[in-house]
Amino acid sequence: MSPVIESQEHKALRSAVAALGKRHGRDYDINTLWSEAAKLGYLGVNLPEAYGGGGGGIAELSIVLEELGAAGCPLLMMVVSPAICGTVIARFGTEAQKQEWLPGLADGTRTMAFGITEPDAGSNSHRITTTARRDGADWLLSGRKVFISGVDIADATLIVGRTEDARTGSLKPCLFIVPRDAEGFGRRRIDMELHSAEKQFELTLDDVRLPADALVGDEDAGLLQLFAGLNPERVMTAAFAIGMGRYALSRAVEYARERTVWKQPIGAHQAVAHPLAQAHIDLELARLMMQKAAYLYDSGDDVAAGEAANMAKYAAGEACVRAVDQSVHTLGGNGLTREFGLASLITASRVARIAPVSREMILNYVSHQTLGLPKSY
Ligand SMILES: Cc1cc2nc3c(=O)[nH]c(=O)nc-3n(C[C@H](O)[C@H](O)[C@H](O)COP(=O)(O)OP(=O)(O)OC[C@H]3O[C@@H](n4cnc5c(N)ncnc54)[C@H](O)[C@@H]3O)c2cc1C
Repeated sequence: MSPVIESQEHKALRSAVAALGKRHGRDYDINTLWSEAAKLGYLGVNLPEAYGGGGGGIAELSIVLEELGAAGCPLLMMVVSPAICGTVIARFGTEAQKQEWLPGLADGTRTMAFGITEPDAGSNSHRITTTARRDGADWLLSGRKVFISGVDIADATLIVGRTEDARTGSLKPCLFIVPRDAEGFGRRRIDMELHSAEKQFELTLDDVRLPADALVGDEDAGLLQLFAGLNPERVMTAAFAIGMGRYALSRAVEYARERTVWKQPIGAHQAVAHPLAQAHIDLELARLMMQKAAYLYDSGDDVAAGEAANMAKYAAGEACVRAVDQSVHTLGGNGLTREFGLASLITASRVARIAPVSREMILNYVSHQTLGLPKSY
């Protein structure tokens, strides 16, 4: 498989998902689309066939999210449920955890949210303090999380916590499956300026009692397991951003072809056309990087995938913000009306710049890891 030229299978997947997206469009009902996409095998396309998935990888899953986004109906929970949680459980879960979760994540009957961000840690996830301690065979998990998407609709949340290393006393990251209605697991909806079906929540974990098998993977594998999920998350955020950018751009191009205030449609003026052409090129370039990252990840090269996934998320986030900005501008006053529906994308497109890792943290990563420059923090 080449990361540059799409295979016939990928092209076919792209056009089938695009057709589904077109049927739902911007006024989509998230539940109907979620179950329809699941039934067609799109949500679990990256999960192992033995557990009801499609046996593909993040390359296929990112095509699904990009095409739904390009049709105006992105499914944000795809970034977390099949991409992070499904991947981590498929790679590191016990046989029982795989049996319990993967078929449901694949057929869309179950959803899992993902919580790493904390109010006092933010971008510095090394500072997270959500801690698990043993109580007999159980775990007791305590801490706080913020901006966690879809906790209300998810059956459980995969929470990144820490356990104490018995030898060194230092804290190491660990992943726990916390059921939505677990005692001591509280949530408060954050009032976001986002027109999105998926809501964000602040979470409190107050001595949440979890059975031993709530821990996913090896207590000592820590970061390796975490990044197995975070790299797909970055690739999928890139897909989300490219889809949104394409959607906005297509609305603007359609408008610029028709709207006439002088002799020619406004799209004939290069001041209108060139920025749209530039936005298209930027989105195409970002997609190339995303395909490279997905290809590296799917071929098992976690280290190279890490660098590429960061770069893809950066390129796609920036391309999306610029494409949306230019598209809104192209519509003049109509760019800000509810009827044309582009103005709300100004806020939505910023999500791709901030989450799951901000533009500056990716520039820091490339400065230090790729270019070998010294660190300021
Ligand atoms: C819509 C939405 C959905 C989300 N969903 C989830 C979810 O499902 N699960 C989850 O765990 N999290 C989620 N998040 C959280 C998201 O991952 C964080 O917002 C993001 O990691 C940034 O953290 P922060 O908001 O605390 O910003 P901060 O870390 O406080 O950063 C603030 C600003 O400072 C800059 N900055 C910080 N440190 C440096 C530095 N060293 N050098 C240069 N600049 C720096 C950042 O780039 C940023 O611009 C979501 C966020 C949003 C907006």
